[in-house]
Amino acid sequence: MSDIDRSDVRPPAVSIAGLAKSYGGRIAVADMSLQLERGTFTALLGPSGCGKSTTLEIIAGLLAPDCGQIAIDGTTVTELSAERRPVSLVFQKPLLFPHLSVAQNVGFGLRMQGRPRKVIEQKVTAMLDRVQLCDFGNRRVQELSGGQEQRVSLARALVLEPKVLLLDEPFSQLDALLRVEMRRLVRELHEASDVTTVFVTHDQAEAVDVADEIVLMLDGRIEACGTPEQLYTSPPTLKTARFFGVANEIVGVVRDGVFNTEAGDVHVDTLADDGPALLTIRPESILPMEKGPQANGVFVTVQSARFAGTHLVVVVSMKDDQTLTLHAPVATPFSPGDQIVVQLSPLRCTVFRRVPQ
Ligand code: ADP
Ligand code: MG
Repeated sequence: MSDIDRSDVRPPAVSIAGLAKSYGGRIAVADMSLQLERGTFTALLGPSGCGKSTTLEIIAGLLAPDCGQIAIDGTTVTELSAERRPVSLVFQKPLLFPHLSVAQNVGFGLRMQGRPRKVIEQKVTAMLDRVQLCDFGNRRVQELSGGQEQRVSLARALVLEPKVLLLDEPFSQLDALLRVEMRRLVRELHEASDVTTVFVTHDQAEAVDVADEIVLMLDGRIEACGTPEQLYTSPPTLKTARFFGVANEIVGVVRDGVFNTEAGDVHVDTLADDGPALLTIRPESILPMEKGPQANGVFVTVQSARFAGTHLVVVVSMKDDQTLTLHAPVATPFSPGDQIVVQLSPLRCTVFRRVPQ
C-alpha cells in the first residue's frame, strides 16, 4: 500500500512555532518553537526571569505574543481568547475566590460554561475526592492550609477537563516535604487522565523528580530538551551541565579521543574534536578505587572529607592542582593528605570544546 493512512497520525497536543515576546524592547521569549506530544509530562525549567511564565501565559491566551503561532491538538488558537482554549493554568498563588466555598470555587468554571447543576455537583464531588478533599466542599477557603489551597486550585483546573494543564511554579510557596507530596499528587492526576501537562519550575531537582521530559530555558531561549536522565548525565551543552549543578570542570586538551591533563589521561566516551577542552563529571560519578593502576584512574590527594548525610563529600586535588569533588560511602576512612586513585567513569564524562582565555 503506497498511501499513508493518516487517520491515526495525531497532531502534537501543543505546537509552538516562532514565538517571541518583548517588554519595552527587552526580550522575554525569543523565537521559541516546541512540540509536546499528547499525554506527556514536561517540566519547563530555567532560572528566574528566563521567560517561563511569559511562555505559559501565551499558551493559555492571557498574553498576546509579538509573533508566532500556537496550536492545540492541531487547531491554531493564537487568536482565541483564554476561556475558549482547552487549557487550564494553575498559578504559584492559589487566587481562590474568598467569598465562595471550596466546592463553589471548584465548580466556578463549570457554572460559567452553563453546565446543569446536577452535573456540576457530580463533577465537583468526584474532583474533590481525587485531590483528597472530599470532606472540605463546604469549607471557606480562608480555613485552608497552603497545600489544601493548591489542591483546590488543581481541582478547579482539572474539573474543566482541559487538553493541556499548565502549572506555574505551583508549589514553590510550600515547604519541602509538602512539595514532594504535591508532586506525587500531580503525577497521579496526570496519569489518571489524558491531559498534557507542563510544569514550570526553577528547581532542577523538582524537574527531574516530576517530569518525563525537560525543556531547559535560558534567557528566553530553549537551551536543551531531553529526559531528566539525558540532561542530568549527558548534558548537551556546558550551560546545561552548569544549570544541573555539575561540580567538576577539568581543563585539558583532547588528542585522538583522549582527554589529556597534566595529571594524567582520561579516555572519554564522546566524540570530541581535538583541541582545548573542558571535561565535566558529576561528583557521584567519580569513584574512589583500590590502589594501583586502574582504567581511567587518576592519582589525587585528599584535601577534606565532610559528612553530608547519605554520603561523604570529598575534595581532592589532582597533580596539576585542579580540584575535584566526589561522593564516597559514609564509612570511608579518608583523611587530609591521603593519596588515593579515583576513576572517572568514561560513560559519565562529558567533554566540551574550550575557548582558551
Ligand atoms: P520567569 O517566569 O522565567 O521568571 P518571566 O516570563 O516572568 O520569567 O519574565 C521574563 C522576562 O520578562 C523577565 O526579564 C521579566 O522581568 C520580564 N517581564 C515579565 N513580565 C513583564 C511585564 N509585565 N512588564 C515588563 N517586563 C516583564
Ligand atoms: Mg515565573
